[in-house]
Amino acid sequence: MYDYDLLVVGSANADLVIGVERRPGAGETVLGTDLAVHPGGKGANQAVAAARLGARTALLARVGDDAYGRLLLDSQRAAGVDTVGVLVGGAPTGVALITVDPSGDNSIVVSPGANGRLTPADVRAAASLFQASRVVSTQLEIPLETVAEVVRDLADGSRFVLNPSPPQPLPADILAACDPLIVNEHEARVILGDAAVGDSPEDWARILLAKGPRSVVVTLGAEGALVASAEGVARVPSVAVDAVDTTGAGDAFTAALAWRLGAGATLAEAAAYAARVGAAAVTREGAQESFPTAAEVEAL
Ligand code: ATP
Repeated sequence: MYDYDLLVVGSANADLVIGVERRPGAGETVLGTDLAVHPGGKGANQAVAAARLGARTALLARVGDDAYGRLLLDSQRAAGVDTVGVLVGGAPTGVALITVDPSGDNSIVVSPGANGRLTPADVRAAASLFQASRVVSTQLEIPLETVAEVVRDLADGSRFVLNPSPPQPLPADILAACDPLIVNEHEARVILGDAAVGDSPEDWARILLAKGPRSVVVTLGAEGALVASAEGVARVPSVAVDAVDTTGAGDAFTAALAWRLGAGATLAEAAAYAARVGAAAVTREGAQESFPTAAEVEAL
């Protein structure tokens, strides 16, 4: 028996957001709104999204011994995530400095901070968490060598899910472990590099699948998603909603998909559920604040 439905290994950031009339150019100072501080980072977001749906979730991450680190630990615990794997210290908590203008366009500077100090040794030291987890998911806001160690340390029978964001070319051993690799169009293009990517998401999915993953999911925003495996390629219908803010939709989708797969759903079933979770998440402002409960997904 597994203690956790999902172990998320990944980043935790404080998002520092200021609204501005116009984003500043070089050498320029502009005045903005009051500062808003939100818990974020793709790892922390995925863990909160899964726990809110009811998944027994643990997070393996690193934060600084500072106020933002405490904010992140508090938000994880409030959502019901087990933070036994959250390491504290070594560098300041990761921060994203975000300015956003009235049209919604933003400029972002990220200081990875403690996320960049989550090492392969930290992963090896968390062996008991890996043994206890049915599904393990990661993203790429932590060092690639740490993700490679995650793949090596998976328990027999557990499943690995990767959302390669921010994208970079991936080594064969990481690609081969993905079941699935979850990408949007931009991520698909970066991972495929100069390879002919074709015109349709079906083409990207087929070409990605040929690079080694056991399965691939392409997310398509308001168009839904598609799944690809040895059994073929299939569209996952979108759910029509009034989108307010798409921040975090991909994280909510990935967490929901990983959880449902662990519960025994087929890839198509898990992606259909995840599309409902992603759709629910875009109906509310924010990232973690926007993630739905299972009852809210049901009601959609
Ligand atoms: P982000 O990086 O902004 O978090 P992403 O690009 O990784 O997101 P998206 O494809 O935007 O991921 O969204 C993930 C999933 O959420 C989609 O596959 C879809 O199922 C759902 N979704 C996103 N936007 C909408 C929308 N406007 N209407 C309905 N569903 C949506």
